Parts: sequence; structure tokens; C-alpha cells
Amino acid sequence: MKRRDFIKTAGAGAAVSAAAAMTPAIAQETHKWKMVTTWPKNFPGLGTGAEFLAQLVQEMSGGRIEVKVYGAGELVPAFEIFDAVSRGTAEMGHGASYYWKGKSEAAQFFSAVPFGFTAQEMNSWLYHGGGMELWKEVYDPFGLVPTAAGNTGVQMAGWFNREIKSVADLQGLKMRIPGLGGEVLQRAGGTPVNLPGGEIFTSLQSGAIDATEWVGPYNDLAFGLYKVAKYYYYPGWHEPGTTLECFINKKALEALPADLQSIVLNACRVANQDMLADFTSQNNKALQTLVNDHKVDLRKLPDEVLAKLKELSEQVVAEVAEKDAVSKKVYESFKQFLGQAVAWHNVSERAYLNARIGADC
Ligand code: CA
Repeated sequence: MKRRDFIKTAGAGAAVSAAAAMTPAIAQETHKWKMVTTWPKNFPGLGTGAEFLAQLVQEMSGGRIEVKVYGAGELVPAFEIFDAVSRGTAEMGHGASYYWKGKSEAAQFFSAVPFGFTAQEMNSWLYHGGGMELWKEVYDPFGLVPTAAGNTGVQMAGWFNREIKSVADLQGLKMRIPGLGGEVLQRAGGTPVNLPGGEIFTSLQSGAIDATEWVGPYNDLAFGLYKVAKYYYYPGWHEPGTTLECFINKKALEALPADLQSIVLNACRVANQDMLADFTSQNNKALQTLVNDHKVDLRKLPDEVLAKLKELSEQVVAEVAEKDAVSKKVYESFKQFLGQAVAWHNVSERAYLNARIGADC
């Protein structure tokens, strides 16, 4: 027995020595990556979410991958990050897929669809409902691997200087609202405007716009929008659980050893969950501050208005499917999953939330 123990020990020792001999070679190979983003550097929730992801990749890899994060415009302008990562100027990009409608109409399904998925439903579709495979198919022609890397949760309908009592009040409403939501507003008689975050406050203050959506209490409080608008409407029908993305240059990812590839992809998955938790926690606090300290007039959009917006949204989203074959395929999957999710959530999340609020609902 003693001899056998000795052999085992010697064997293990040899293995340890071999591993030790290999360690310096691995440690020397440091991958210095760049992450370009559509957010101002360290912007609450979104920019800080990108920084958290970079830090996570570095920590999990024991420093074998270093990721330097660039705010919008630092290395490339916000809306050029997709091309920059596609051509390999940077290895990672952090943004939202609805910005890339010009590249592929189908991209819009992976950020937010009016009256579409909540954060939980979106993650279920992506990870366990076939969504991720479709997203990969959409980004593959650009040499990019997409990942979900954050979520804002349900946003707010926005800040209004006009009271919305009926659909007629949307007529001529000049509102900052990008993407599919903007198209829906236009069909309801309004005038959608696309403005970068930094211009929203002054545009609302000067009366250049009558209303704006941004994100939710956390980000809206940071911009001070309560100072220049009368009403704060909910719910964010146009962005019910917006996914933020981190896409990776496919060649750069595949050049990594298997363990580092797994670290990068799983760090994105952790960041995806963490951002939603951050937004939920910060929105909870910020809503109290807006209502209690700043006396914000919080209002729900009338049911009649929401019903009209839903009807128009269904038309707008169905039309995206007609643009090309891949958009149709993504739309079919989205629609099928949404139908199931609605049926299940009616008897789970929705029924529970109604039961919890009880007589006050
Ligand atoms: Ca928004």
C-alpha cells in the first residue's frame, strides 16, 4: 500500500509540476480587448452596466482578458459601434439592437417591441425559446456574435406637457420617441422626434417638443425631467423590457481558448441579470423621490389610449415581418412565444400582482 501511495503521490506531483510549467505560458497571453458603447461613459445603469461587464470578464479570467471601455464618441460615434466591431476595430460593442434597423429589420425584435415581451419573457425566449439562435443568425452575416447583457425592465410612457385624456389628444403631439414606438405614435396622429438623451431636457423646456420618453424613474430623475414637464405617464407600452446587448467580433471570440470563450459569454449572462436587478432597485427608490419630494403628477394612460396604441403596434410589428425572410422567421417565433407567455402570465405574474394589490387595484 505504501508503495502504491508513493506512486500516486509522485504521479500527482508530476502533474502539479507540469501544470506549474504551463502556468507562465498561459499567464503571459493577455488579450487586450476594447469595448465600444452607445452610452456616455459611466451613464447610470447603461454605461455602468458596460463597465461592470468589462470588470467581470477581467476578474473571471484572472486578468487573461483586459477590457477597456469607451464611451460614445471616444473611439467611434455611438451609432458606428456595430460597424467598428464588425470590422475588428474593437472586439466588443455595448448598445441596443433596435439601433441597427438599417442593417437588419429583424434586429429590432431583440431589444424591445411595443406591447411585446417583459424582461422575464424576453430572457425566456432568448435562452430557452429559440430567440438566441435567431439573433445569432441575424448578426452572423456581420461577423458578430450577439449576447443579452442587460435589461431596463418596463420603462415609463414618459413626460408630457399635454394631458392625455383620449386618443384625440395624441393628434399633433410632438414627442421624442424612437424606433417602432415612434412609428406607432405617428399612426395615432402624433409627430415622433428622435433626439439623443443630452438634448431632451432643453427641447422639453423650450416647447420644441410636447412630450418625451426616456427610460424610467432612475434615469429620468438623473436628467431632471420633472422640472420641465407637467405629467409623468405610465406604463411604457413601447419598451416593456428593453434588452441591452453586448456583441462580440466572431473571429476574436473564436481565437480565444475554450475556457475564455465561456467566461466572456457567461459574464454577459451575469451582466444581463445584474442590470435588471440594478434598474429595479434604483427605479423603486427614484419613483418615491419623484412623487414624494418633487410632487410629480403620476398618471396612467387611459385604457382607450392604450387599446388604440396596442392595435396600431400589432400592425406596425407585423409589417416588419414583411420586409425580408429572416424578419418573418423571427416575427413568427416572437409571436408564437408571446402567445404562450401571455396565457401563462395571466394566471401567474398578472394574477399574483392583481391579488397582491387587492382592493386598491
Ligand atoms: Ca426609452
